[in-house]
Amino acid sequence: MNVHDSEHIRGVMEEAGFLLGGSPADAQVIIYNTCAVRKSAEDKVWGSLGSLSSRKKDGQTVVVTGCMARKYGIEFLRKGKTVDAILGIESISRIPELASMRISTPFCELVSTWDSSIESLPTKRTISTKALVPVSLGCSKECAYCIVPIVRGPERSRKPGDILREVLSLASSGVVEVVLLGQNVNSYGHDFSGGINFAKLLRKVADVPGIKRVRFETSHPSDLSIDIVDSIAEIDEVCKHVHLPLQSGSNKILSLMGRGYSKEEYEDIAQEIRKKIPGVTLTTDIIVGFPGETEKDFSETIDVLGRVGFENAYLFKYSPREGTRASRMFVDDVSEQEKQHRLEILNIVQERQTMRALESLVGSTLEVLIENRARKGEYFLGRAPGNQVVLVGADGLREGMLVSVRIVKAGKHSLRGVAEKVVGRSC
Ligand code: SAH
Ligand code: SF4
Repeated sequence: MNVHDSEHIRGVMEEAGFLLGGSPADAQVIIYNTCAVRKSAEDKVWGSLGSLSSRKKDGQTVVVTGCMARKYGIEFLRKGKTVDAILGIESISRIPELASMRISTPFCELVSTWDSSIESLPTKRTISTKALVPVSLGCSKECAYCIVPIVRGPERSRKPGDILREVLSLASSGVVEVVLLGQNVNSYGHDFSGGINFAKLLRKVADVPGIKRVRFETSHPSDLSIDIVDSIAEIDEVCKHVHLPLQSGSNKILSLMGRGYSKEEYEDIAQEIRKKIPGVTLTTDIIVGFPGETEKDFSETIDVLGRVGFENAYLFKYSPREGTRASRMFVDDVSEQEKQHRLEILNIVQERQTMRALESLVGSTLEVLIENRARKGEYFLGRAPGNQVVLVGADGLREGMLVSVRIVKAGKHSLRGVAEKVVGRSC
């Protein structure tokens, strides 16, 4: 979601005549689009602002937006003179005006309602054929560790008509893949009457002429209905990849987190997905070192990781977030050293699994959607339906092509392949 917000920021700035700069030193405006999910993300922003303070040039405007702007507000001003404007993400269309004014008095605008949307603002994407499309904003779950509902507000579904109009317009501008975004896409539509739900939305988006691939994230295990699993299995355009955050493999920790499912329930859903969607890629998020997590709880997480056999996983150390239920109710009692240790163990286990999953694809032929040139230019970088990154020799290819690729090699995080033919059909 944060990446998508940045696309809007770039769109707004370019429309006003600003260009993306090479380095902060030469920039007229420096914009921090911040994330508050973990302390490590915040530390980077504080550190960067600190080192900018002595290098900031006359006439440069420094703007902070995103979730930290909402969380800290004018605290950014108390920490020195580096920051000129603090804007809620809904106010990013003010940036060009503020930059042109060369404001001398710090400016702060944090809209207090969750009604405003930035979806009508211009967008500038880095991959021309793939677009991120929010289907809902905010989140109404109450995971104890999570700051998202506090900084992004309760879940609001976007109207299906608005989403479809956007996808239609994207398709007519050459977009062939859309990624439907929401903190919990599975509960899409729960705030509307009229019977629209995520399964129906998937079908409608896949039916838009020109759209060859539909991806979506994130799924919440409690709301992933059989209907949705069936839709993923049945609709050709929907990529066979489900990102299903587990967070922990211990029932005690899941309950303290308030996730609303047990490890047995999670494993049942994962099994159902694998049964109904052959060849599906299952990925997950896991937090280690949540308050009260013992060696035994952690070993249960390793067990579930192995049993489900995730193709990939994003692993995080628990980071207490002020204002969340966990930070009010629990002591952060797993030491930093122990969190790091658990993270490393889990990393080793998952890396092996990821490698095995990638190696199992060597010799197969996958449909790869070409996204952009890889750094040295000899290769194009594309994605297989399961979201694996595939490097393909560049001859005769271009962005947006759907190519049948024979996989010849597996690396730690990506595949290498040879293009066999350009195909006109969906994944
Ligand atoms: N809506 C999604 C993702 C939200 S944030 C979901 O429900 O899964 C992305 C991931 O960051 C989460 O899945 C979680 O694993 C991690 N995360 C969120 N808050 C965290 C915290 N306080 N400490 C460590 N990791 C956290
Ligand atoms: Fe945070 Fe839970 Fe909502 Fe995901 S579902 S954004 S982890 S509160």
